[in-house]
Amino acid sequence: NVQPAAQPSTQTNAQPAVQPQIVITDVHKEYGDLHVLKGVNLEIQPSTVTVILGPSGSGKSTLLRMINQLETITGGEIDVDGEMIGYKPVQRGGQTVLQTLSDKEVARQRAHIGMVFQKFNLFPHMTVLENIIEAPVHVAGMKKEQALAEARTYLEMVGLSDRANHYPSQLSGGQQQRVAIARAIAMHPDIMLFDEPTSALDPELVGEVLSVMRKLADDGMTMVVVTHEIGFAREVADQIVFMDGGVVVESGTADIVDHPQTERFQEFLKAVL
Ligand code: ADP
Ligand code: MG
Repeated sequence: NVQPAAQPSTQTNAQPAVQPQIVITDVHKEYGDLHVLKGVNLEIQPSTVTVILGPSGSGKSTLLRMINQLETITGGEIDVDGEMIGYKPVQRGGQTVLQTLSDKEVARQRAHIGMVFQKFNLFPHMTVLENIIEAPVHVAGMKKEQALAEARTYLEMVGLSDRANHYPSQLSGGQQQRVAIARAIAMHPDIMLFDEPTSALDPELVGEVLSVMRKLADDGMTMVVVTHEIGFAREVADQIVFMDGGVVVESGTADIVDHPQTERFQEFLKAVL
């Protein structure tokens, strides 16, 4: 993990340098002959919300899944909190080569990244509370009493205190997704990835999930959100990224949706707005 030597600043009013929390450098993904990501570059600052927009098939889910190591990287590099994910550089015969991390090291890196999917994937045979404490107790080794106490505060945060002992099938889609968010938070992540969290919901249930996400953002969570909700993007995003064809076509602050520079982004916005 080589850090560049700090340079003495010549500026008098230099801003304190904030280390990006996620750095994505020339990342590629190939599935056999299919070249899905073709050199993605992106930096994500701590406690910011990045919204990724783009047409279906542009590689948004693949990129999120690579950050969370559900997919391997076939080229380039992703660093989280200054550490390369999935690989470590080792010296071999006078050369630096990348070695795949052990399952244990991968688990350590993934432990502080939470992910919420389009399909909520709650355990159907467990109550809401049981769903939330499952990983803290069985993966993180938390005491059950503590996990339960924490779970109740997360349920309050997502507005579902009165549903603690319900089963997923007894909840609406919006409620299930809010439980899924509470379940992810229960592992104390410092980064949350959302892959189209409201796409499977009836329109009238989208708002309640977005409002929980807004709350998380206000609390300072670093968030990367794939969504077609342009209103949410405009209001909450610190950074918007438009992907198409496996590359970042445009990125910038939230107002890029009002001034798209490329025809591809213009066409996309026309279709979703
Ligand atoms: P998006 O989320 O932007 O809709 P994806 O990242 O899901 O796009 O997919 C990008 C491309 O990669 C698509 O062409 C998709 O068919 C392909 N793809 C995704 N996952 C796999 C896989 N496991 N094997 C082969 N191709 C895949
Ligand atoms: Mg997708």
